[in-house]
Amino acid sequence: SIPLSFFAGIGGASKEGVLVKGSNYLETLSQTNIVVFDKTGTLTQGVFEVNGIHHSGMDEAELIELAALAESASSHPISKSLQKAYGKPIDRSRATDIQEISGHGVIAMVDGRQVAVGNDKLMAKLGVKAIPCHQAGTIIHMAVDGVYAGHIVISDVVKPTSRRAIAALKDAGVRKTVMLTGDAKAVAAQVASFLGIDEVFSQLLPADKVTKVEELLSRKGKKEKLAFVGDGINDAPVLRRADIGIAMGAMGSDAAIEAADVVLMDDDPLKIAKAIRISRKCLGIVY
Ligand code: ADP
Ligand code: MG
Repeated sequence: SIPLSFFAGIGGASKEGVLVKGSNYLETLSQTNIVVFDKTGTLTQGVFEVNGIHHSGMDEAELIELAALAESASSHPISKSLQKAYGKPIDRSRATDIQEISGHGVIAMVDGRQVAVGNDKLMAKLGVKAIPCHQAGTIIHMAVDGVYAGHIVISDVVKPTSRRAIAALKDAGVRKTVMLTGDAKAVAAQVASFLGIDEVFSQLLPADKVTKVEELLSRKGKKEKLAFVGDGINDAPVLRRADIGIAMGAMGSDAAIEAADVVLMDDDPLKIAKAIRISRKCLGIVY
């Protein structure tokens, strides 16, 4: 039978906005000492600001409009940022044949033209030579009818509590923090160093994230538990693979929430350390 203190633990956690899906996860949480994070939407905010637009051949307004239309069916944070920058209502009927390629971007027909919006991997897939951009931020390249059309730079804003969240995990005895991202190396390194994250792996495809977590799982000690924290559709397999999967509940995707063992109702990464402390308290572990 489940000790009464477990119910108290689940209740206490839920008052803090931490939904624990079963009493067994409290035990795993109490032993968690490796925490692996997704970057975009997890440690950084869901919607970012457009910082710069560089266009070749068409004007800026047209570039943003095509980007927003091509992205109109996507729920990715990048799509939300582009919709916001466009700022006008979207006529969804203008975009057809929309393909979202995870870890790459989207390709769609907009007003009869093929519009591709994504990273350099997407451009390479299409055989389009992207002009390198060294501005800080997430670089979104665009191609129209197979011709390079420019790029949009969006700043990936760190959540206000992310830095404290990493420090709080260290205080709670977490041995290692890791960040995994599909984003470029420069922006990933910058975010990780600002946050005080121990290890960072960038330019990962969704399947690479699973491989990385499996590597980390195989190298951990017998009594150590690994948590993965993520928000996106792509994060579902990793959330399932980790000893404990933690999802963002407010802005996160349904797939991530479904696959997770613990859900942070307000998307606040600071709540992870709090959840670990609550779990230890209810198990009578003095740390
Ligand atoms: P993260 O691992 O940081 O959460 P994702 O795996 O969701 O990021 O995406 C990795 C990269 O793939 C993004 O940084 C972006 O370059 C590209 N990408 C993914 N989805 C989109 C999209 N809808 N529009 C444009 N680019 C995208
Ligand atoms: Mg993400």
